[in-house]
Amino acid sequence: MSDRDIELYLHIPFCIRKCAYCDFLSFSGERKTQEAYSNALIREIQAVGNREYSVSSIYIGGGTPSILQEDSMVAILDAIRNNFKVLSWAEISIECNPGTVTAQKLHAYHQAGMNRISFGLQSAHNHELEKLGRIHTWEMFLESYQLARKEGFSNINVDIMSGLPGQTREEYLDTLRKVIRLNLEHVSAYSLILEEGTPFYQMYYNTELNQELPDEEEERRMYWHGRKFLEEQGFSCYEISNYARPSKECRHNLGYWTGKEYLGIGLGASSYFNGKRFHNTDSMKEYLQMSDKPDRIRIEEEIVTKKRAMEEVAFLGLRLTKGIDMMDFEKRFECRFQDVYGDVMKRFLSMGFLAINGPYLCLTEKGIDVSNQIMAEFLLDGE
Ligand code: SF4
Repeated sequence: MSDRDIELYLHIPFCIRKCAYCDFLSFSGERKTQEAYSNALIREIQAVGNREYSVSSIYIGGGTPSILQEDSMVAILDAIRNNFKVLSWAEISIECNPGTVTAQKLHAYHQAGMNRISFGLQSAHNHELEKLGRIHTWEMFLESYQLARKEGFSNINVDIMSGLPGQTREEYLDTLRKVIRLNLEHVSAYSLILEEGTPFYQMYYNTELNQELPDEEEERRMYWHGRKFLEEQGFSCYEISNYARPSKECRHNLGYWTGKEYLGIGLGASSYFNGKRFHNTDSMKEYLQMSDKPDRIRIEEEIVTKKRAMEEVAFLGLRLTKGIDMMDFEKRFECRFQDVYGDVMKRFLSMGFLAINGPYLCLTEKGIDVSNQIMAEFLLDGE
């Protein structure tokens, strides 16, 4: 049996404090719970591991993975290496919150083979960070960033947000300018989304905040000004919200967007594996008790039918700047892309929302501004 190329995602659900806009599965946890969780993760890794799975990327996300003690993190990575075949060139990323890393932690991460850090910064302005409920300041981020460089990390991403309450376009660009001066490799720049159940959502519907949020037009201007600026600085926008220096694209996320198989390990982690999508329980109690019995913790299993797989390739492919690879689609599904999507394609090509570039079908600038509506048209009826 030949090796199977997969990606791994590990979820660490702990945060020091919940940010006001966040709806991720994360909460504060005592040291004892964190240790029990690390052991449970290792048990799950041992239960699902297979040395015939070649792991090309590992993404440790959260939550705030950098909250865990470094020896726990190293033990988790050791368990992965002992139970999967991790390729020598694998990308191994860890999300870090500024203010939660120390030289000792970063040293241990680097020694353990982690080679990419993603810092959740969001803004270079302390008044914006405070409003977002972040636990750190711009200065704390700078310190964490410099420590990471000193410990040898040569591939660093920084997450930035636009469309914050009260934020002007100039303030957003100023954040980008400050970040770029650090000469980093990757920027993820997302617009703030009001997620139901978060304090921000409540405030918005109580009309406290809605006056302060930029309207849709201004939000689009922020996007295009930011994008132009980053491109002028030598970054390529390879996905709607992601920018990289040459060859520094996030391989893990590219895997998601191109339909590669991945196994999610940890509380609430999602997987796409063996033609199915499923995710782990989000009950900590259940997870701690049964993480070594994957069948008992996996819920909401969905079989990805051919139609569903086609839709996913289409709407995830449209997020990529180069677009959907129509030749690849044909090889994978044994039917021409045009035969499945000819009508919708023709309509949007004639309206100037889509363009063809060799074997790729991509969004135009005009299309990017209404990308959600266009992607929705690529959903197919029925099973
Ligand atoms: S640090 Fe990240 S995961 Fe944790 S609460 Fe803030 S946004 Fe959510």
